Amino acid sequence: MTVRHGREFLSIPGPTTVPDEILAAMHRPAVDIYGGELIGITESCLADLCQVFRTRGRTYIYIGNGHAAWEGALANVLSAGDTVLVLESGRFAVGWGETAAAMGARVETLSGDQRRAVDPAALEARLRADTDGRIKAILVVQVDTASGVVNDIPALRRAIDAAGHGALLMVDAIASLATMEFEMDEWGVDVAVTCSQKGLMMPPGLSFVAAGEKALAVHGEAGFRTRYWDWTARDGELHYEKYCGTPPVHMLFGLRKSLDMLSGEGLENAFTRHRLLADAVQAAVAVWGEAGVLEFNITEAAERAPSVTTILTNGIDPAALLDYCREKCGVVLGIGIGELKGQAFRIAHMGHVNAPMVLGTLAVTETALIALGIPHGRGGVQAAVESLAKAVPA
Ligand SMILES: *Cc1c(COP(=O)(O)O)cnc(C)c1O
Repeated sequence: MTVRHGREFLSIPGPTTVPDEILAAMHRPAVDIYGGELIGITESCLADLCQVFRTRGRTYIYIGNGHAAWEGALANVLSAGDTVLVLESGRFAVGWGETAAAMGARVETLSGDQRRAVDPAALEARLRADTDGRIKAILVVQVDTASGVVNDIPALRRAIDAAGHGALLMVDAIASLATMEFEMDEWGVDVAVTCSQKGLMMPPGLSFVAAGEKALAVHGEAGFRTRYWDWTARDGELHYEKYCGTPPVHMLFGLRKSLDMLSGEGLENAFTRHRLLADAVQAAVAVWGEAGVLEFNITEAAERAPSVTTILTNGIDPAALLDYCREKCGVVLGIGIGELKGQAFRIAHMGHVNAPMVLGTLAVTETALIALGIPHGRGGVQAAVESLAKAVPA
């Protein structure tokens, strides 16, 4: 017996649901890459990406995923033997550090708690101890998609400034850009990265790197520069040079549509939508947790991300829950990853999501909890509904 036939709903934190408008924009014949409309699309996308990152700096589009964005960012500002400081708060900053290590940087990790945001005071103390300024860059995520934490980037900037340290602040905004506030210039972020398949609602395949003034200034000396990643080469006049080869034509039509959809909604409105839907999810999880089995991975409510919620299952294997949701009801929840493999599941509320998508996901999850006899507080969906009804008045 199943009730899954109908449109399957993907509720994993990337790749996220691609809106029909974006799919339709990409569904078209190939076009000339040396002239015609594609040239203007590139220019407008690069400019609009600056608006999304909120920078007066430059943006670069690479054919690649998030890992490519990581490498593209590092390659343009660092050299072999440079020290980078990774601020741990889950899985992803550590992964970025591993990329840096593989490229030949020295990587130091400021260990963090898997259940808390990065502590700005710990960063300040570490930087104060770096009296000879060995640390060249600090790598941090805004949202860690594994732990479900949101880091306070302005607070980390203040910690760097309080220590009087000159390291570059490099932020992975892959699971957060277009879902919550990000102010690259105002917050003093030197390099930021994202990719297409999260808040930007596109298929995987494009990565984006934004470079601020200070990053562009040190770029000239970066020893890691290679032909494909090099910002200088991509700043060339020819359209072809912007991509170091053939442009990702159809992805660019999709990107143009994604940016139009975001500006049509208004970035601030998109942030609010994410916050309200996150509140609804978190209201449900709080109720489910009353039975003492399910629990937020992130202990402080204020540190829970607006784009993904990670739920610990405390001794119960989440596989049965995920299987039930997918096989019986057609909802695909996220598995626990990294250290939380087999110990957690994740509900994404990232990108092209609205109330029925999120409430449907919660209701299916609750159906699974009941069907599988997993102890949980009753009325999680009701709490989510009430949260939304209060936040979205008539
Ligand atoms: C998804 C994600 C990545 C990695 O992206 P890939 O496209 O899988 O390489 C990196 N950082 C964060 C925060 C992510 O959510």
